[in-house]
Order: sequence, then C-alpha cells, then structure tokens
Amino acid sequence: MKHDELDLVIRNGTLATAGDTVRCDVGIRGGKVAVLADSLEGGRESIDATGKLVLPGGVDSHCHIAQRSSTGIATADDFRSGSISAACGGTTTIVPFAAQHRGQSLREVVAAYHARAEGQAVVDYAFHLIVSDPTPKVLQEELPALIREGCPSFKVYMTYDALRLDDRQILDVLSVAKREGALVMVHAENHEVIAWLSEHLLAEGRTAPKFHAVAHAATAEREATHRAITLAEVADVPILIVHVSSREALEEIRAARLRGLRVFGETCPQYLFLTAADLDAPGFEGAKYMCSPPPRDVASQQAIWQGLESGVFQVFSSDHSPYRFDDPEGKRKHGQSPPFSKVANGVPGIEVRLPLLFSEGVRTGRLTLEQFVALTATNAAKIYGLYPRKGTIAVGSDADIAIWDPERPVTITASMLHDNMDYTPYEGRRIHGWPIITLSRGERVWADGAPKGRRGRGRFVARTLPALARPAGSRAS
Ligand code: MN
Ligand code: MN
Repeated sequence: MKHDELDLVIRNGTLATAGDTVRCDVGIRGGKVAVLADSLEGGRESIDATGKLVLPGGVDSHCHIAQRSSTGIATADDFRSGSISAACGGTTTIVPFAAQHRGQSLREVVAAYHARAEGQAVVDYAFHLIVSDPTPKVLQEELPALIREGCPSFKVYMTYDALRLDDRQILDVLSVAKREGALVMVHAENHEVIAWLSEHLLAEGRTAPKFHAVAHAATAEREATHRAITLAEVADVPILIVHVSSREALEEIRAARLRGLRVFGETCPQYLFLTAADLDAPGFEGAKYMCSPPPRDVASQQAIWQGLESGVFQVFSSDHSPYRFDDPEGKRKHGQSPPFSKVANGVPGIEVRLPLLFSEGVRTGRLTLEQFVALTATNAAKIYGLYPRKGTIAVGSDADIAIWDPERPVTITASMLHDNMDYTPYEGRRIHGWPIITLSRGERVWADGAPKGRRGRGRFVARTLPALARPAGSRAS
C-alpha cells in the first residue's frame, strides 16, 4: 500500500500491546490499523506521539448504562454520556448489560437496550444479558437466539431479591451456556447471610452506610464464590466471577484454577483504592462509596493487587454504576439519609478506570505495561469474543487507540469528568498519566481536552464466543 493512502499516521510513539512494547509507527486506513512499521512516511494526517504511549483503547466489560432497576432507579448515564466519559478516559469499547426484570421477555429487553443505544453512543458497544427469570421460554428459545445474535455472555445474581437465582436456576443457565457457547458471569454473594445480617443490624438501629460493608461480609462472598464454582464444575462449563473484592473470594478462584477448572476473575478500581472505612464518612457521605461487594480493608487491597500481578484476575473493569449522590433519583431515592439497605448500590468509574490503574499499577512497577494492556483491554476482548477486532493494535484491528502522556499530573475531581454524576469516589486523588487522544476506528473521540465525535457514531458489535483459552495458572485437563 502506498502510505499516501493512509488516512492517519501516528508517529514516534511507543506502542504497547499485551505482548510487546516497541517503538513503532501506526498507519490507519478506513478505520482500521493498516500498517505497523518502524517509520512511516505520508498519510493525509498525522499525530506526533514523541514521548507518548500508544495503547489499545480500553475495553470496559462491566458497566451499567441506561439501566433501570426493578425498583425504578435509573442510572444517571445514558449511552451518550456513558460512552463520552469512557472515551475521555481512554476506553473505546463498552459492554453494559441488557437487564431482564422478572416477567419480561429477554428478547424484548435486548430490543429496548438497542433502542436506547442507537444514535447515542460515541464508541462501540456490545451487550451482556442479565438473566433474572430463566423460564423455559427464556432458556430454550430466547437465550439461544440472543447468543446467535451476538450476545453470548450473561450475568446471574446470587443475591438481591429482584434478581437472584437459586442454585438449580443457575445450573439451568450454565447448561444453556455450555450447549450454546456462552459465558456466564456471576455476582457471588450469599443472599441469606446478607439478609440475616442486614435484618439484625437494622433491628439494632445500625442503619448508617458503613453497616452495608458489615452486612455484605467477605465470608458471604467467599461462600458464594465457592458455590458458583461448584455449580460450574457440575455443569462442566467455564465461568467468570465478577467484581471480586476480597482475599477470601480470590483464594477460591485460585484454588479452582489449580484444580484445572476454567474460572475467570474480574476486579475493579473500588477494591484497590477504597476501603470500608470510606463508608464511615460523616453523615450520609459514606453512601458515595457503597457498592456490592463493598470495599474491604487495606490487607484486601494488597491481596487484590497481588491477584492482578499474578494472573488470578484476567479482567479489570469499572462496574460503573452511576447513581447520583444528592439526588432523589439516585442514592437519596428513599429519603435524605435512608438506611443502608435502601441505598442504590454502586459507584461510578468508567472514565478513571484506566488512569487509576496506570498511575498506581504501572508507574509504581507493580504491573508491566503489557499486563496493564491485557487487564484493561485484551483479555476482556478475548474472553468475550471481541478479539482481535478490539483489544489490541494489530494489522486489521479496529483503530481503537489511546495515546497516553504517561507523565501528565492529574488531580481527579468530579467536575473534570464527563459522566452525568455529581461525585467521584476518588475526589482529590493525585495521579500521573492520562490519554491525550482517544481514537475510535481512527476518529478522534477525545482530543485537546474535550470530547469529540458525532453522537451515534458508536456501533453495536455482535460477538461470538471463541473456544475459551485456559487462564494462566490453570492445568490442562
Ligand atoms: Mn454485581
Ligand atoms: Mn455490576
């Protein structure tokens, strides 16, 4: 190819993928990576990336966008604001959930989420499903059809009254996944333990946000993680445990992997950068840090870091759950200072996910740049069937690229972020490193300190699950 035919050339940068870090120019044509070479001439347009890192755009495979709960609370971010916020933090693919409420047709739910995303997103997106009502029709007709239509991953919950499945229902869903080629993601917390602890705490008048972290005990997470793995073992199918918060749950995943099971693990920024002590802020402020599972203690943070370093976790996602703090449609839906059991669970983080891990993981030497790319983009793309179109920089891949200034000092504040939130749990945190330009299929969606790109340019990406690679540390059976 004549390099004059390139639309865009990124010159003089340091390119890192999950495999290598090299000095390399990137030529882009038609929205795809067309050529990688030590030096590229020509191109209709160019970006000088001297002193910068050229990384695959992030894949955020766990975020809640335009989602409505069965109790009527809506996330503050729609596909426009959520995808803009993602882009401004270097993420170029988002995989939110199409969430079924009981009694709903899953196909109608997915159609509704397609309608919410259409014409709104600025980066590409896919959908996981949330299965809360696995009726025979859902299991036998809807799930197989939706898997064929490009949604081969679904989340099930072991807790929350409106969402949870019992063990037999989870086995039913797992067996559909095995037969049809899908991956089940599990929210693993023991419902009865949480309900019992909550009931007793509330009866004793212990209603403040900090008691959320007491009710959602790490032991309840450990037990449910063990049980989820057992159910997957019975069904003989891989699973992915989402948002692991504790050493206890991490140890269950590691032990299962050593037994030869295909168990994937995900963790999130809130388990590295927050602790239960944050929930003990004055007044109702602690609600800003409430999510499930909750942040634990400093020892847990260290264990989660080790899990990232050693490969127990494959995926680092945001679990962006944007419920505004001072808002009757958010954390204050049930009053100015409602008991912890009535507060929407979740913290935002779609924009700060990559910068937080880069600053505190890569710059400190805990993670290599290649590990950072794997954890934030490549592994999720591989596990969920987006690879190699997404999650890497290779000839033929979509030109989804974040160009990073690794030295840039940033003080995180809610006002600098582009989500529709009124707070960030990381307010005032000082970090180094931020993307200066984010490209989605070769087009700028973040540059010069401002969001770019036409609303609605983001496209739905239909996925097919690959034969799942065994995670590192697992034994061939
Ligand atoms: Mn969850
Ligand atoms: Mn979630």
